[in-house]
Amino acid sequence: MSTVKDLTILGSGPCGIYAAFCAGLRNMSGYLLEVKSEFGGQPLMLYRHKSVYDFPGVKEATGQQIVDMLWEQYLPQSKKIIPKNNVVISHIIEKSDYFQLLFVDGLKIDTKNILIAAGNGAMLPRTLNLENEEHYLNIDYFVTDVEKYKNKKVVFLGGGDSAVDWANHFLENDITKNVSIVHRRNAFRAKENNVDNLLKNGIQLFKNYTVEKLIGEKNECFQILVKSNDSLLDKVLDVDYLIVQYGLTNSYGIISTIPGLQWNKGKILVTSGQHSSKEGIFAVGNSCYYEGKDYILSSSMGESATAIANIYKKNNPNHKGIFYSSTALNKK
Ligand SMILES: Cc1cc2nc3c(=O)[nH]c(=O)nc-3n(C[C@H](O)[C@H](O)[C@H](O)COP(=O)(O)OP(=O)(O)OC[C@H]3O[C@@H](n4cnc5c(N)ncnc54)[C@H](O)[C@@H]3O)c2cc1C
Repeated sequence: MSTVKDLTILGSGPCGIYAAFCAGLRNMSGYLLEVKSEFGGQPLMLYRHKSVYDFPGVKEATGQQIVDMLWEQYLPQSKKIIPKNNVVISHIIEKSDYFQLLFVDGLKIDTKNILIAAGNGAMLPRTLNLENEEHYLNIDYFVTDVEKYKNKKVVFLGGGDSAVDWANHFLENDITKNVSIVHRRNAFRAKENNVDNLLKNGIQLFKNYTVEKLIGEKNECFQILVKSNDSLLDKVLDVDYLIVQYGLTNSYGIISTIPGLQWNKGKILVTSGQHSSKEGIFAVGNSCYYEGKDYILSSSMGESATAIANIYKKNNPNHKGIFYSSTALNKK
C-alpha cells in the first residue's frame, strides 16, 4: 500500500477544518496540520466570544460555536484526514510526483497534494528579545486564565488596546490591585476613554520607559529593569507576572519559500479552481488571492469545497462523475 497520502492541509482554521471534512467525505487520506496547540484559527484566537451573524444557515453564533460546529461535522472523517497540532515543517521537498514534508520533531509525511489553509500565516506574539526570556514561565503573551493573577504583582508591557483593556479589567474586577503598565512611548495607541480609566482605576504608569533587563532565576523572572527614555534613569520593578502585549506577527514561514508559487498582495495567487501556480499545491481562505476575493467565512469555506473537488479530480483522472449530492458520499 502506498504511503503517499492524497492530501495534506496546512492550517486548521474554518477553511482547513471544512476542507478536511470534504476530503474525508470523498475517502481521501491525509492530514490536517496545525502549527499551534489549538485547532480553530482566527475565530478562537481573535473572537472566541464575539458573535458572527453572516455564517450560512446560522442566525447568530460566537467564534467558539462556529469552530465547534465545524469540528463536530469533521470528526467522523478524522480517521482518514488525521489532525495533528503543534507541528512545524522544516522542509518541503519536491519529489517526482509528490511532496515530502519534513518536520522539526522528525515526523515525515509524503503527500500528493498540499492545501494551504494557513490564514494570514502563523500568528505568533512579538517577544521582548531579552536574555533568558524563553526560560521564564511567568512571562505570558496571552491572557487566558485570569485567576492565576489573583492578588499578584502584574506588569503589562505595551501601549495598545490589549494592554490597556486587560489592565482595566484586572483592576475593575478585583483580580489584583497591583497592576502596572510599562510603555515605551508617551502616548497610548488605545481608546482615549480606556486610557482615562487606567488613571481612575489607580494604575501605576511607566510611560516612555523601555524594559532593559529581566532579572530572575531558573524559571522565574522576579524583577525587571526599566529605563526612562527621557532621563535615562533606571528603575527596578518587582513582578509576579509579566504580560507582554506587543501584538502579533504573521508569518507564512516555510510556505513562503516554496519555489514557483506566485503571490499577490502577500497572498497565494489561485485560479477559480483554487490551484496555485504550482502543480499539486492549492490555497484557500485568507491564504489565497483572486480577483474579487472576499475575506469572509462563507465564501472562503466554499473555496475549500472547490479545492477538494479539484484535488479529487486530479488524483482520480478517470473518474467521470461529478458529485452533486453529499448523500451518496456520506454512505461510504
Ligand atoms: C476580529 C475578527 C472578526 C471577524 N468576524 C467575522 C465575521 O463576523 N464573519 C465572517 O465571515 N468573517 C469574520 N472574520 C474573518 C474570518 O475569521 C476569516 O475569514 C477566517 O478565519 C479565515 O479562515 P482561514 O481558515 O482561511 O484562516 P484562519 O482562521 O486564520 O486559520 C488559519 C490557521 O492556520 C494555522 N497556520 C498558519 N500557518 C501554518 C503552517 N505553516 N502550518 C500549519 N498551520 C498553520 C494558523 O495557526 C491558524 O490556526 C473575522 C476576523 C476577525 C479577525
